Amino acid sequence: MKFVRFEKEGQVRFGILEGDTVTPLSGDLWDEKPLSGNELRLAQVRLMAPLEPGNIFCIGRNYSEHAKELGNDLPEEPLVFMKPTASLLEPEGTISVPLWAGRIDYEGELAVVIGRICRNASEEEAEEAIFGLTCLNDVTARDLQKKDGQWTRAKGFDTFCPLGPWIVKSAETKGRRIETRLNGRVVQSANTDMMIFPVSRLVSHISRFTTLRPGDVIATGTPAGVGPMNAGDEVEVEIEGIGLLRNRVVAEAS
Ligand code: MG
Repeated sequence: MKFVRFEKEGQVRFGILEGDTVTPLSGDLWDEKPLSGNELRLAQVRLMAPLEPGNIFCIGRNYSEHAKELGNDLPEEPLVFMKPTASLLEPEGTISVPLWAGRIDYEGELAVVIGRICRNASEEEAEEAIFGLTCLNDVTARDLQKKDGQWTRAKGFDTFCPLGPWIVKSAETKGRRIETRLNGRVVQSANTDMMIFPVSRLVSHISRFTTLRPGDVIATGTPAGVGPMNAGDEVEVEIEGIGLLRNRVVAEAS
């Protein structure tokens, strides 16, 4: 089952997507009552990010080839950071790059959406807390990341968190092909089986220090092949069985 959030005539709602038919929901993601008789075509709506996350947790260096390409040691436990929720961007939205900030990279990632309260969870319990899956681009100001020594600013600019295009209701995070394309050219190609720490471990790990709540999102790390984007580029993150997240890059208006 696929969940979308969409705008139509100024109103934002959640819906269920089947084929190219969107059935609006009476409430939010946690209220799955479809309003049948009110169906819309996908082409008639503007897709928004599929939810407004409570928190956006991210994992650094969770694919060994990516850690190596940036000259980093493999982590002994999951490396957690966060993106501000104001960085959220909808599918087909434009990533606005500040020209003064130097190199800006794409990072295609599998994102999980938490569906229930989760604290001190075992890996088994963690898996049960996963509501669904979507695609995320962990856009990164690489030069600022190095300069600052920590990542909040580099990862946190407005529009640096494209998310979507929808949430697939599934907790099956293994064995999914993940690919990033820049202007149609494949730049990242991997499989989620190549993660150092599986998703259940990531969720469990985060739940050992904070309470995960429904609507929290966890980006699970990017594979090898990261690289810069420039104004005018088109970037796509596609994950097998989930969907395709496409965004364009523009220079931030001064
Ligand atoms: Mg990342």
